[in-house]
Amino acid sequence: MDFFTPLEKIPRVGPQYQKRLKRLGIKTVGHLLFHFPHRYEDFSNVIPISEVKRGEMVSVQGKILDIKNIRTFRKRMVLTQALVGDTSGSLQVIWFNQPYLINNFKKGDFLFLAGKMNQSKSGRYLSSPAYEKISDELRFKNSDLIHTGRLVPVYPETEGLSSRWLRFIIRPLLDQLKDEVSDPLPDYLTKKYNFLDLKEALWQIHFPDSLRLAQESKKRFIFEELFILSLFVLRERTKLAKEKSVSVPLNVGLAKQFVKSLPFQLTDDQKKASWQILKDLERPFPMNRLLQGDVGSGKTVVAAMAALNTVKTGYQIALLAPTEILTQQHYQTFNLLLKKNKISIGLITGKENKFKNKNIKRKGLLRKTKSGEVDILIGTHALVQKEVKFGKLALVIVDEQHRFGVEQRAGLCQQKDLIPHFLSMTATPIPRTLSLTIYGDLDLSLIKELPKGRKKIITEIIPPEKRNKAYNFVREQIKKGRQAFVICPRIEPSATFQENNFNQINLEKRDRGWAEVKAAKEEYKKLAEKIFPEFKVALLHGRMKNEEKEKIMKGFKKGKTDILVSTSVIEVGIDIANATIMLIEGADKFGLAQLHQFRGRVGRGKEQSFCFLMTDFPSQKTSQRLRALIKCNNGFELAEKDLEIRGPGDFIGQRQWGIPNIAMDALKDISLVEETRKEAKEILEKDSHLKKYPLLREKLREFREKIHLE
Ligand code: ADP
Ligand code: MG
Repeated sequence: MDFFTPLEKIPRVGPQYQKRLKRLGIKTVGHLLFHFPHRYEDFSNVIPISEVKRGEMVSVQGKILDIKNIRTFRKRMVLTQALVGDTSGSLQVIWFNQPYLINNFKKGDFLFLAGKMNQSKSGRYLSSPAYEKISDELRFKNSDLIHTGRLVPVYPETEGLSSRWLRFIIRPLLDQLKDEVSDPLPDYLTKKYNFLDLKEALWQIHFPDSLRLAQESKKRFIFEELFILSLFVLRERTKLAKEKSVSVPLNVGLAKQFVKSLPFQLTDDQKKASWQILKDLERPFPMNRLLQGDVGSGKTVVAAMAALNTVKTGYQIALLAPTEILTQQHYQTFNLLLKKNKISIGLITGKENKFKNKNIKRKGLLRKTKSGEVDILIGTHALVQKEVKFGKLALVIVDEQHRFGVEQRAGLCQQKDLIPHFLSMTATPIPRTLSLTIYGDLDLSLIKELPKGRKKIITEIIPPEKRNKAYNFVREQIKKGRQAFVICPRIEPSATFQENNFNQINLEKRDRGWAEVKAAKEEYKKLAEKIFPEFKVALLHGRMKNEEKEKIMKGFKKGKTDILVSTSVIEVGIDIANATIMLIEGADKFGLAQLHQFRGRVGRGKEQSFCFLMTDFPSQKTSQRLRALIKCNNGFELAEKDLEIRGPGDFIGQRQWGIPNIAMDALKDISLVEETRKEAKEILEKDSHLKKYPLLREKLREFREKIHLE
């Protein structure tokens, strides 16, 4: 029996359970042993029955003096009633509605029990306790206990896999594990950090002798996970540095001229980011850079400057945006910004194709892209179709999508051995621990300041009693000619959500999507019919056809509608200067950074803008959390707060990063993240291919496979 033994070979795991385990991604003994408890029940203090007190959780041992099933009249329940005694006394035990239990017990059986002492009219009783029967009273050792009389592991709840069952299966696996289990963590690290060795750590995390030891082994596994993650990311970096890209020399004169031509002064952060990008482009290997800046911080100009320099050196750019409207917007902006520079810009979407501001047939546009006549091609996903090939592509820019595979990038190039430079722009601030780990293969450029002269958006938390007042305020604003966004609440995934369970996640996503659409439709109806019948209200949601979505967005942009109700999944990433109100329903359901991004959709024009955070649960805690938005206008600070309060889920989203739960939590811990990264760097400096560490290599391979499952 080793880590790679398949489930089918484990005694007592039948086909039904194999299926349930596989749904969680558990296929081997190793996977099962790395399915860790998320907490422990402390039943270690076994007391004499005479000392048992009402209302307390207690742990006792004793013999069954009497046991029977009885049926209650009123509630039609079956109670399994037992009298259990030790040398100090006896107590009543009742299990509810588990009539089959009686088959496990008989008079004289020796039991450990753990549960709560309750009181009813007919007396005190131990209520549905955890139990463990000891077959050989004389020869048993305390360490044999798995459900009672000790620290008992509790596993994440899953349909059909109880903690009791998992304990029953995992315990014998630990017993049978060879002493020399293959530990991927190098010996020198285990020694340096005083970690328990792998086998001991597995014992202590499942069946700990003390909470301290459980904690220590947890630390060891977290370290291992973060270490592997760092190794993976660092190796991706070095691999990319070995690839070839076009070197684009920096033309300082041209850059200066461009900056001068702008109707505004660049902020210092914009200058710095531009410089970093232009310097990267000079290198003969691919740039891999993330340009981060709040909504409205001016990322587009920075991208345009990089594009200009690249085009004037004789190469092409591809710019990818997530929606048709954003693509159109970029097309206009780039045409405007680069007007004086005689640059040919093309537009490719599912619907229309343009070149130099004229409509063009798709075929023609593709030909001109291949020949190099198109300097910049801006598009939606239509841009990454197989038939799109660039003759001289040097740079790929992607808006609001963090990653874009290296293979996909290479696929756009006509030349086989070239990988274009890559610039990703995002308004999602990424906390530092995450930029070192899961985004660690990307270099970062930050725009932390907004351009001067922006009006601060007035943000208010609206509890139910102020709702009408807020609506009246919106009414007045619209009468003055302004427009409003209404964002509907996010629907939380249900409690059965399970990490590692791909099918289930997809299902969840689908259900959640529909639930969100339903909520948005109801909100729309309410606003259009009851609250604002005098205004034009439109609805936008993710299940609409693209064409329909575009039509509605265009209508709003042109001022044909006054209020746009939308689900949160819709990217409202367009510039609408006349929209001055952002009203967010169920604000407490969102992360702060996301609320901040919604807020950034208004406040573009010269009028004062407002953000209303509607909440039906203005508890102390939520108001306190939301109040951070009133005080703080910095996406990065808010993102750090989110990470602290909500964990990294918001930033990683539904994407499977193959990171187990225990390590997810550790992604908040900057010193641990830095430590593991340092160790990963050191080992790669000594042994870049990990030749001396085949087990680590194997782990990395597994990790990569998991990520590719996305
Ligand atoms: P985002 O970072 O959200 O993509 P944009 O690039 O769309 O932001 O810029 C938002 C607006 O700010 C645009 O209208 C742009 O012209 C303007 N802008 C960009 N940089 C500056 C600046 N330094 N000073 C004033 N306005 C700027
Ligand atoms: Mg933008």
